[in-house]
Amino acid sequence: MRWCGLHQKNKEQIYKVFTYRQNKLQAKKFASTPFNKRIVFAPHCMRNIASCIAIEKESYYICTRCGGCKICKISELAQKSNYRALYIVKGGRTISKIIKEQKPEAIIGIACFFEGSQVFKVLKEKNIAIQFVPLTKDGCSATDTDLTEVAKVLICTK
Ligand code: SF4
Repeated sequence: MRWCGLHQKNKEQIYKVFTYRQNKLQAKKFASTPFNKRIVFAPHCMRNIASCIAIEKESYYICTRCGGCKICKISELAQKSNYRALYIVKGGRTISKIIKEQKPEAIIGIACFFEGSQVFKVLKEKNIAIQFVPLTKDGCSATDTDLTEVAKVLICTK
C-alpha cells in the first residue's frame, strides 16, 4: 500500500516536471499569438454541479456565467480579452475534436498534471502553442485552480 502511494507520487512528479518544461518551451510562441486565435479549455469537474446552468453540448459545456464557480471569471476575462472561445470539456478527446473544427493557434488547458501531460503529447505534431495551468485541487468533482495564475497566462503577450 505504501509503495503504491509512493509510486503514484513519483508519477505525479514526472507529469509535473514534463508539463512545466513544455510550458516553458511553448511560452514565447503562446505569448505572440493574437488573442482572437486562442481558446481556453476548462475541465467539467470545476463546475458547481449543484447549481451549474451551463449549456450542455455533446462533449462539452458552454458556461452561462451564473457565478457558481471560477469558470465564470475565466470566461469573462477570456471574452474581455477577445479570446475566440472557452469550452468546458468532458474529456481530453474533446479538445482534439474542437481544435480540428476551430483551428486555434494557441490554447490554454486547465487540468490535473496527468491530463495536462496527455494534451501536450496528443497535440505534439500540431502547430499549436499550449500553456497548461494546473488544478490546485483535483479529483472527479469540485476541483479548483488558481485564478491569478489563469489570468496571468490568459492575458500574456510578448
Ligand atoms: S459559472 Fe458557468 S460553469 Fe460555473 S457553475 Fe455557473 S454556468 Fe456552470
